[in-house]
Amino acid sequence: MPGWLDVLDDMLTDSQLDSSLAEEADACRSDSDAEQALGIEFVAAATSEPCEPFRRFMLANHKVEHVHPTFAEQNAGKPCILHPRSPSCARPVNADLGVFGTPCDPFSLQRGKRFHDGSVKQHALYSVTFTDALNFLLDPGAPKAVIMEQVEGFNEPESDSESETPMNRQVWKNEVGP
Ligand SMILES: [Zn+2]
Repeated sequence: MPGWLDVLDDMLTDSQLDSSLAEEADACRSDSDAEQALGIEFVAAATSEPCEPFRRFMLANHKVEHVHPTFAEQNAGKPCILHPRSPSCARPVNADLGVFGTPCDPFSLQRGKRFHDGSVKQHALYSVTFTDALNFLLDPGAPKAVIMEQVEGFNEPESDSESETPMNRQVWKNEVGP
């Protein structure tokens, strides 16, 4: 009796999926490992990771075509770390899969002031999710499918006086573009 991973692997093989990947931030490592464990051929088209040791670890384990230090620079198509003399390193257009995790610090239940009014939105790393990731997702060249990883607190109320959570906020239409 095949497991579900075997079934998924067979489905993807049968469909001859063009498996180019756009991988983002630190979550890409574990998902790339999963792709490799499934034996699915893929091209890691681009990543972004601000931490240099993490980038070094990533590049020691995977061949990646473009490596940006931040989501915002990748979105802007700036020259990447591998091609600093290039006029630009454009982000992949309509890659089959985008995998990313944005910083959990603003949303984490481990943070002391997590439920104080305004503390989520005022956190310095909040914009990585609610500006950079949104721009990535709303771009016409966004991946065909996306896997996003976040911490459990992403689905908890923004503060003690608000019931809305970061996950169910209606930002997708109201705050960023049409
Ligand atoms: Zn590049």
